[in-house]
Amino acid sequence: MIAHVHVDAPVITIDRPFDYEVPEQFETLIEPGMRVSVPFGSRRLLGIVVGTSDGTREGLKPLEALLDEESSLTEELLDLSIHVKETTLCFRSSALLAMLPAALKVSYDKEIKEGLVPDGVRLGTHLSEYPKDVQSVILGLAKKGELTLAPVLKEKKTVKTDVLVELLDATVVSKRAKKQLEAIRQLEETPRMYWSTLRQIGLTRPQLQKLEDIGAVRLTEVELNRDPYATIEQVKETVQLNDSQARAVQQIHEADAGETLLVHGVTGSGKTEVYLESIGQVIDEGKQAILLVPEISLTPMMVKRFKRRFGDRVAVLHSALSKGEKYDEWRKIKRREVDVVVGARSAIFAPLDRLGLIILDEEHETTYKQEENPRYHARDVAIWRARYHGCPVVLGSATPSLESYARAQKGVYRYLHLKERYGGEMPPVHIIDMRRELAKGNTTMFSEELFNGILDRIEKKEQCVILLNRRGFTTFVMCRDCGEGMTCPHCAVNLTYHQHGDRLKCHYCGYEVGMPSTCPSCSSKKIKQFGSGTQKIETELLNRIPEARIIRMDQDTTSRKGSHEQLLRRFEEGEADILLGTQMIAKGLDFPNVTLVGVLAADATLGMPDFRATERTFQLVTQVAGRAGRGKLPGEAFVQTYNPDHYVIETASEHDYESFFAKEMGLRQVGNHPPYWFLTLVTFSAENSLVAKSEAELFASDFLQAQVENSRLNGPMPAPLSKLKNAYRYQVFIKTKQPEALYVELARLQQARAKAISKKEYQMSIDVNPYVF
Ligand code: ADP
Ligand code: ZN
Ligand code: ZN
Repeated sequence: MIAHVHVDAPVITIDRPFDYEVPEQFETLIEPGMRVSVPFGSRRLLGIVVGTSDGTREGLKPLEALLDEESSLTEELLDLSIHVKETTLCFRSSALLAMLPAALKVSYDKEIKEGLVPDGVRLGTHLSEYPKDVQSVILGLAKKGELTLAPVLKEKKTVKTDVLVELLDATVVSKRAKKQLEAIRQLEETPRMYWSTLRQIGLTRPQLQKLEDIGAVRLTEVELNRDPYATIEQVKETVQLNDSQARAVQQIHEADAGETLLVHGVTGSGKTEVYLESIGQVIDEGKQAILLVPEISLTPMMVKRFKRRFGDRVAVLHSALSKGEKYDEWRKIKRREVDVVVGARSAIFAPLDRLGLIILDEEHETTYKQEENPRYHARDVAIWRARYHGCPVVLGSATPSLESYARAQKGVYRYLHLKERYGGEMPPVHIIDMRRELAKGNTTMFSEELFNGILDRIEKKEQCVILLNRRGFTTFVMCRDCGEGMTCPHCAVNLTYHQHGDRLKCHYCGYEVGMPSTCPSCSSKKIKQFGSGTQKIETELLNRIPEARIIRMDQDTTSRKGSHEQLLRRFEEGEADILLGTQMIAKGLDFPNVTLVGVLAADATLGMPDFRATERTFQLVTQVAGRAGRGKLPGEAFVQTYNPDHYVIETASEHDYESFFAKEMGLRQVGNHPPYWFLTLVTFSAENSLVAKSEAELFASDFLQAQVENSRLNGPMPAPLSKLKNAYRYQVFIKTKQPEALYVELARLQQARAKAISKKEYQMSIDVNPYVF
């Protein structure tokens, strides 16, 4: 038997499976979708079986070990990997690996020292998972050479255990054993408790053991699912939907197989309630659902709403989970223990096999596109999977992407509109002209109106959300005398000042230096940071309102695992008056006590050299304004800008998506931008600037020669980030109306360059439908 295996090796230049001989003892076990260990050159690598065939060939190497007892990837996902490869121009192995939880993407070589797996007994099972008596038999056999022990994989060790303590007899405990008695008293209230809980009263492990020895308790070691939301209780009651919500649920229910629906609902219209109800219906029919949300909206509140509704039948996947926690959730999905998967982008690959509905909340979010290989968009993957399962896809947003809204207008997507807030009004938005503030002599970050508004809320014990539109607005350092800016020596970007440690850092490559006291170029002492970060604003607020309780959310305060959630929880519980932060606080938050939203530098994103800058600014302002007045109290928003008459600021302030769309589409058409054209970005980078440039030029001329129909090429030109990690970068833009034909041609041009690229002469990256330039 021969196995066809995609191998995870960077040196491979041709995207094809490699053949390995299947040793006889594996023949009945091997299946497509299994992970295997294969010899590759002098190394041992992780591979994924995509097929097998009978027969054998001279010189085939045998594969070394099966790493799964059953396939990690379903037939559907194996098919899907071909689609991802063809539409994003990545290698198939890269698509396959993207579908696995990180715990299973082990580099085999590294794991060899970790332990032992009894190979040929039950493949891929850790020795410790066998009963004690079997373990000794296995070890005995191994000693005699009748059994080989294979290297183990780390994931087996990520399984966490706890000890279940059950009360048997309270009377046998000595009166003098204080801690033990206390434990028993607890157990008399709750007869089954975990060791992890009991130890909190100060009980030691030997003391617990003693309790078992005298027959007071029974101890059982149990495998734990590391479920960080385990304490949330399921609540059966459901809400009464209003008419437009009920209509949306019905239309989703009646949708055709593979149909896509756009749910355009203003902030607070109850989209989440619609999702919950629709998913409930799907589960009642014995099917499963995926709900994707942007990473940033995966707040405890959001998860809570789902856990309360669907209890244990929900798996949650997001980046704040540890590798092991994610793996636990993934295994629950594999074992069919869940009906709903809630997660960020990569949860779209969840191995559910009875999908009845896929929902993308905040579908306009660019984080749905992965910015490294495979550069897939979760929306496209969702639509592919929905067709495969014959179920609908729901795209939900208060500010749909132009792409999706345009498709809805053309009738490609079914359009559902939730025009009103549930039980309330949209908050009034006041545009504040900061030029006038300046003329009045106010040089602070806060207009008078906004500042007074904040004071007023603090007095009334209501809460405020203050957003600093920070992109292009970081603190960079410049000399006031000679104008010299402090830039990264490896990347063509400004270094960012960090108060903590008084250092300058490059956000692209991690380079950092101490803040110089004099200008490196003219020795002047007038070297200072410019711009205004959240730290500075916090300081300013505290200087003016010393009693204000502020929670600051930005890269610095949220870098630790779980800190994002913790900060939001504290705000939710009323521990602060003001939530101050960057883009990460704009979306998804539903705090009923927030009655004021302030946007600082609303127009900071408008000046970016990106045709989507306007769309992003519109989304940002609309979304953040939508955080105000979501509860019983009315809210209002203040938008501070130097461009009060700009159509983006005006339409966003009036919650007028339609006017914004009409205006923006006109500009996109004139500029030949998406959604009128499909855009692809090809970037060449090399340490030698001339190599990058000439490769880009060669590519451009090859492409033009191929004469792909309905396609145009712009460039080459230096990339806006012209130097990154010591590599110079040139880029070419291709616009097309026929993406399928273009992708075939691009794959050919890419393949022709495989050899040179593998020798690291230069790098070529293709980004289909790019969002970052
Ligand atoms: P969206 O996701 O569109 O921003 P949500 O679903 O978060 O809106 O709804 C906003 C608020 O209104 C939430 O607190 C939600 O519980 C409440 N809500 C929405 N619809 C209903 C309903 N039919 N019954 C009771 N509460 C509702
Ligand atoms: Zn200087
Ligand atoms: Zn750098």
